[in-house]
Order: sequence, then structure tokens, then C-alpha cells
Amino acid sequence: MLIIRVALPIPKRQLFDYRYDGKALAIGVRVSVPFGPRKLLGVVWETSDQSAWDISKLKSIEAVLDDSPIFDPILIKLCSWLAQYYKHPIGDVVQTAMPVALRKGESSQEKPIEFWTLSHQGQATDLSSLSRAPKQRALLEALQKQDCLKSKAKSEFGAAAIKALVEKALVESISKQVSQEPTWQQDLVVQDKPKANVEQAIAISCIEAKLDQYGCFLLDGITGSGKTEVYLQAIEQVLKQGKQVLILVPEIGLTPQTVHRFKYRFGIEVGVLHSGLNNNERLQVWQQSASAKLGIIIGTRSAIFTPMLKPGLLIVDEEHDSSYKQQDGLRYHARDLAVMRAHEENIPLVLGSATPALETLNNALSGKYQHLKLHQRAGNAALATQHVFDIRQQPLKFGVAQGMLERMSQHLQQDSQVMLFINRRGYAPALMCHQCGFVEHCKHCDKPYTVHKQLYKLQCHHCGSAKPIPKTCQQCHSHELVSMGVGTEQLEQGLAEYFPQYSSIRIDSDSARGKNKLDKMLNSINNNEHQILIGTQILSKGHHFPNVTLVLILDVDGALFSADYRAAEHLAQLITQLAGRAGRAEKPGEMWLQTHDPGHPLLQDLINNGYSHFAQYALMERQHANLPPHSFQALFKAQALSARDAFDFLQQIAQLFSHVDGVSCLGPIPALMEKRQGHFRMQLLLQSSQRSRLQKAIAQQIQQIESLQLANKIRWSLDIDPQDFT
Ligand code: ADP
Ligand code: ZN
Ligand code: ZN
Repeated sequence: MLIIRVALPIPKRQLFDYRYDGKALAIGVRVSVPFGPRKLLGVVWETSDQSAWDISKLKSIEAVLDDSPIFDPILIKLCSWLAQYYKHPIGDVVQTAMPVALRKGESSQEKPIEFWTLSHQGQATDLSSLSRAPKQRALLEALQKQDCLKSKAKSEFGAAAIKALVEKALVESISKQVSQEPTWQQDLVVQDKPKANVEQAIAISCIEAKLDQYGCFLLDGITGSGKTEVYLQAIEQVLKQGKQVLILVPEIGLTPQTVHRFKYRFGIEVGVLHSGLNNNERLQVWQQSASAKLGIIIGTRSAIFTPMLKPGLLIVDEEHDSSYKQQDGLRYHARDLAVMRAHEENIPLVLGSATPALETLNNALSGKYQHLKLHQRAGNAALATQHVFDIRQQPLKFGVAQGMLERMSQHLQQDSQVMLFINRRGYAPALMCHQCGFVEHCKHCDKPYTVHKQLYKLQCHHCGSAKPIPKTCQQCHSHELVSMGVGTEQLEQGLAEYFPQYSSIRIDSDSARGKNKLDKMLNSINNNEHQILIGTQILSKGHHFPNVTLVLILDVDGALFSADYRAAEHLAQLITQLAGRAGRAEKPGEMWLQTHDPGHPLLQDLINNGYSHFAQYALMERQHANLPPHSFQALFKAQALSARDAFDFLQQIAQLFSHVDGVSCLGPIPALMEKRQGHFRMQLLLQSSQRSRLQKAIAQQIQQIESLQLANKIRWSLDIDPQDFT
């Protein structure tokens, strides 16, 4: 009899032992097991002939779901590493790594693939009879050559054309067993490949020289320098060797436009993993990647878990983007996991950015990563000039200074587009009584409500609670309620009145909600349907706006004084990325930044010397202050209905670490956001100059911490390499 140790979706840092009467069971196979009164689906993680428990009392495995493991040995190893490094329950790690459909017990075998094919009648039909329906004609023509995947037919010819041909009985559905042979290699073509410039050529040849071994490259190239072109040319070689490429992009960067660029260059299907897929579609991409039917797989953070039969290259685009770090549950960093994975798979990894994270830059400067630089913009586009605009004692109209409105006007008159960035969505960040100064607050979070005029609501941006905009002050019953500060909605309204002859578009998470909405908006901008673009962070993420010549950043002063030591880095990245949206084509651009502190050293350094100068200086500062990447951190967060409980819990943890050599303890202190959804929030920061010391100390104490009485009473979490201190 075998003892099977199963990873179960249970928040405990352990495996669970079961008996199995069969001969052997492979690691990575899913099983169904009894757990108390329930049945759970888990994954076999270890096998043994012994157990620490009384074997006669162990329950038996009820069913085995897979013939072969759902994870390959490297993914199994990575899951174990994640559990150990992030001190996270292995069962939950395994869940995170699995597509939802597999968590729910769906078969891991590939289903037959559905195609459209010509019917007898379709084979006999003359194309000219469809000359008035060009899409139907094109589909029919394609089907005369070969059967077409249903998903491909839909995306290329549209559902309407298919429906029409089905109704005319010209095409019919067939399903084919999945072949063992990879399907993409015979389709591979290379279209419209530009000649690489000198810097690109060097970067490409450095990567190509190491295609069959581990190596990590930082592709550090200014915005528009042709980083994507470097990826494409490196990918070409990998595909030609019959190997696969996995590309990670930030959450907001994954638009059909991005995917189209990869598809178009090579003429092959691209597997796309994004949040809009349903569970089965996601599983299908996973399976087709696992069997090497897809050559290119592109996705956001969790795509890093996609299995590949023939891995050849990993790419993390915009590697500095904060969406790569998961902020709840398993708080992993997909970039760091990509490094581990490339190492285990023995393949190269390219990290690309115009504004590398300080961690990454440090690794490049120390020689751990190979540093590839692109200093010039590809094509002839010039980089935008950058300026600060002093708004001290200046009247502002809907957040914009008069001088800036005039500059906007100049650019608009030259048929250019203008982009305005503001970090706040909604109409205004607060509603105040003009008589007594009372401000409407969310009582769950102790933060002012944001005014949303279009929804006629006050909304808390921290917990989502909302209520109608009141007509009178709660405190003095005055009717004079005024909105304070400016958000995207107010800016849009103000500009529409000030520039009635130009059309404006607002892009924030309110207006871009819904399927394909963002992509439609981006298309309408590129078609010049709008001249004034207003938006939040979304605008900074990698989109190309060739006709924008003026970028105006309205209000970043808050970030200059943030208590978070990463705020400066993030601000510098944001400003540089925003400036990079301008003047991408032939038109030169400029970026203006409104501020009350025009002499601020960060702004001056950034504007005069550029991001990489700023970043090297910031790294030096981090070194003097002994902050990451020159030290290593772990953050315990606790939240409870009573501030006392949260504090006491963290205080007990602090005591456990008080005598550990080389690990210092800061706190407990209130989180930057002290209260949220009615819970008080505290944190305790551990820091060490050696990663291994910190790791070891936490590993030694974690059981103890879990068994503290308060641990079961309050909500708490542990964040290794924390990014977010709010
Ligand atoms: P990045 O990824 O660094 O923002 P892209 O790869 O998107 O830059 O390149 C910016 C623009 O320059 C794109 O329109 C791209 O097609 C073009 N481009 C890139 N490399 C070349 C090249 N070697 N020759 C001509 N055009 C190029
Ligand atoms: Zn009042
Ligand atoms: Zn709230």
C-alpha cells in the first residue's frame, strides 16, 4: 500500500496523507479525496510508504482523475519553490498554477478540435456567386484550400459570414482528433520585417547567441526604441528551431492590437490568455501550449504557469509594471518566477522596459543580467522634450493653468492630439460644505468620498461603497456643498466647454469598463476621431499614439511627498512612460508637468538627465538607506475590527523575531491606509541585508505564528518582497 501526500485547496502549510491501494501514482496527477464531510480535488505531490499519522486511520483516495500528470516536472518544482519562498500553503499554490477548469475537475485531455469544412454543395459553388458578400466569399475561398479552425474563422471572417454560409448549407462543422504533430510550424512565414538598426542588431545577436541556455537579459530601451522589434526578431529564430515563446504583458497592455502585431509578423495562431476568456477557452490555450500546438503564447501575470512542451524563450514586457506582483492570496512576482522558470528550463529570458525596476537595474549593473541598451528611437521619431510648469499662485481652470490651455490650443490648431494625465477618476476627490467645512467621509475607510456626477453618486474608491450625492450638509444643513479638487470627469467637462470645436475622450477604469471597450477607444484615437485625450494610468501603458504632440501631467505633487519609499521610483516611471506617448511619428512632441515644487530634485533630475540617471541615483539612495534591492523585506499585515487585536497579533510576531540575528523589525505601525471596509489595518516590517537569513527566520517561526490564538481571529497575511505598503 502507498501513502499519497496530496496538495489540497486548504489554507494550511502542509500536505495531506491518504492511502492508495493501487501500484503507483505519478506526482502531479489529480485525485479526488474525502476531507471531513466534503470531497476535495487535489494533486498528488509526494508518495511514500510511511506516514507520520496512524496509517490504519488514514482515508483512501477515492478517484484518480488523470492518466498522466497535469504539471511537468519543472512546474512541479516551481510550485514547491513558490510555497517555500513565499511561505504559502502548497495546496493554494497548486490551485493558483492550475486553470480554473482543471480545479473543477474538467478532463485534462484535449478535446477534438472543431473546424468548418465545405459541404458537397459548397464544393460545387462558384466563388463569383458570392461576389456581393465579400466576407463569405473570402471564407469560402479559404475553405477551398483547407478546413478552418472555428475560432480562427470567427476572428478572421466574422460570425455573420459563417452564419450565412451555414444557412445556405455551403459549409458544415466537423471535429477532428487532435494530432500529435505541432501545427504551427508549417504555417510560419515572416512578413514586413524591418532591417534592425545597429543597437537592435547587437541586442538581437546577443540573445540569439544564447538561445539554448539560461541567460537573463535586461532590454533597457527608451520608449519607441524598437524593443518589440527586438523581441520579434529573437522570436523568429526560436520559432524556426521549432520551439515555443511565452510572453508576459501587463494587465492593461494586452489589447488585440498587441496580439495582432505578433500574429501578423509570423502568420500563425497566437495563444492569448487574458481575463476575458471563459474557463474552457483558457484550458484550451493551456492544453495547446502543453502539446506545442501553439508557437507563441501571450498573457498577463498568471500566464507564467502555462506549460510548454518545447520551451524556447521567455519575455516579460514592461517588466517594471506593478501588475506582475499579485496583491492577494499567493503574493508572487511573475517576473521573479520567470527568472526561476527560465533557469529551470535552461532557456533565455528577456526583460524589457524603458523604465526598469530598480531591482532589475541593480541586477543588470552588477552583471547578473546582461544589459542591452537602445538609446535611439527607431524610425525617425524624436523623443519629447520635457518641462515643468510652475503653478504656484496661478489660477487653475478645472485643474489646468492658463499657460497650459494656451499651449494646448497651439497644438490643437496644428491638427495634433493632446493628452492630459490626471491620477483621479470621478468628478472631484471630495465634497465639502462651504459653510462649516464638513467633508463627506466613507465611515468604513475614514477617507473622503469621490464625487461621481454622471452617476449622481458619492463613491468610496477604497471599498466601493456608494450613496447619492446629498443636497444639504449633514452637520449644519447648509445647501452650499462644493466639490474639492479635480477628477477626470470634471476635466473632461471643463475642456469640452473650453474647446467646443474639438472632440475629447476620457479613458479611465470607469469609461473603459466592458468587453473590448478599451480597444475600441484606442482605435478611435488612432483614427483621429478625438483630439483631446484625458485619462489615468491606463494611458501610460505602452499604447502608441502617433499623433499626440503634447502630453500634460496635471497633478503629481502628492507622490513627491509620499511615505512609501517606492513612490519616487513609480513616479519617475509614470512620467517617463507618459512622456514616451508623445511624438512617436515624425512630429516632435513635448511634455509639461504642472507642479507646486518646480525645483524638486527628483523632477529636475528626471527632466534634465532622464530615467536612467535618476534610477542610478535612486539606487545609491536606497543603498545608503539600506532599502531594497540592497536589503530584503517581508511584511506582515493584519486587519481586524478592533485596532487592539491587530496590534497585539503583530506585537506577538515582533517578539518572536526580536532575538534573531541580522533581522530587524519595524513596527507594528498603522498601514498607510489605516482603516478600510471597517477594519483597522496594521503592519510589521521585517528586514535583513541577507535574503537567506530572512527566509530562514520566517521559516522557523511560521508554524508558531499560525498557532497564535489571534491568528484565527483576525485577517492577516505575509508578503515577501512587498511592493505595496498601503
Ligand atoms: P518599443 O517596443 O520600444 O516601444 P516598437 O518596437 O514598438 O518600440 O517600435 C516603435 C516603432 O518603430 C514601431 O512603429 C516599429 O514598427 C518601428 N520600428 C522598430 N524598429 C524599427 C526598425 N528597425 N526600422 C524601422 N522601424 C522600426
Ligand atoms: Zn456644513
Ligand atoms: Zn470605504
